[in-house]
Amino acid sequence: MSEGTFDLTGRVAMVTGANTGIGQGITVALANAGADVALVARRDPSETREMVEKAGRRAHVVMADLSSIEPCARVVEETVEALGSLDILVNNAGIIRREDALDFSEKDWDAVMDVNLKVLFFLSQAAARHMTGWASQGGRRGKIINIASMLTFQGGIRVPSYTASKSGVGGLTKLMANEWAPKGINVNAIAPGYIATNNTAALQADETRNRQIMERIPEGRWGDPADIGGAAVFLASRAADYVQGHILAVDGGWLAR
Ligand code: NAP
Repeated sequence: MSEGTFDLTGRVAMVTGANTGIGQGITVALANAGADVALVARRDPSETREMVEKAGRRAHVVMADLSSIEPCARVVEETVEALGSLDILVNNAGIIRREDALDFSEKDWDAVMDVNLKVLFFLSQAAARHMTGWASQGGRRGKIINIASMLTFQGGIRVPSYTASKSGVGGLTKLMANEWAPKGINVNAIAPGYIATNNTAALQADETRNRQIMERIPEGRWGDPADIGGAAVFLASRAADYVQGHILAVDGGWLAR
């Protein structure tokens, strides 16, 4: 492997939901690997911005509510205008709603599917339309990384729309890879295991569920957002140019159990 294969210097990344949790962990990892980063968030991501600047990279904040596809084209345009390009898109923003399947509401179904699946697709489409303008030229490729879940592989419990959305993310990752690989874009996903963030606060607070989860993780601990960064850098880098449609579990061994 040639030197600098994992180096992202000169690359522009965009991370959705960059203000906190896994999005923040990925953003910092990409910046440390050399990328400038557009931080897409609906709340002030100043903490993440400071972390990117501390790594010596440019950060540009794009405020957007990703509960509808309305901002997708603008978010890409703003990033390209501010940072000069868009090479790497990380579709991280996501929500979860917990309720027994018997009582699950249409509202909770739509809310989760819109952010986790519909916007993920249309933002990828907007980014790919930009990337196909230059991808493959001079060996420079576009990279799209979707954040999947253990529930891309498993059924879960009390989270029907989340399971549907993340299973959909797995399928869409493969579809987009099939269509866009020939156009010079790599599309892959990361499936985080149980990571200590706002998303899993209810599980962490539930003594029984927390114990059950910990007992099943061979690593014996919840993951940290920083644990996801290395996989994101790999998939964003030239080292992964021949990786397509893959869902990379970063789960402390959960799926191996
Ligand atoms: P988190 O801390 O709740 O982060 C979710 C991010 O998405 C936040 O930045 C949130 O913004 C943003 N977001 C949600 N709805 C949005 C909207 N309408 N517009 C703009 N931004 C929006 O949880 P996380 O665990 O880091 O989740 C990140 C991703 O990882 C999600 O796709 C999640 O499904 C996935 N994931 C998490 C785990 C885990 O164990 N934690 C496991 C597998 C997959 P606000 O801060 O404004 O809400």
